[in-house]
Amino acid sequence: MAISLDRFAYGLPDPQAHEPKAIGKCACGCGEEIVEGYEYIEYDGEWFADTSCFLKFHGAEWRGAEAV
Ligand SMILES: [Zn+2]
Repeated sequence: MAISLDRFAYGLPDPQAHEPKAIGKCACGCGEEIVEGYEYIEYDGEWFADTSCFLKFHGAEWRGAEAV
């Protein structure tokens, strides 16, 4: 009786190898997806893909300091 090695050739299904699940989009409107398991900026229930998105949403920006 021949022993099949097929299941070793293909390997076992990896439970971690599922598709990343997008749970929403960046609140700034850039369209960036918020994917479960990754780190983003969360503020007051809104998710932001990056600091630039957070600043844009709040109308803030990096700028050189100058006397007013
Ligand atoms: Zn954004």
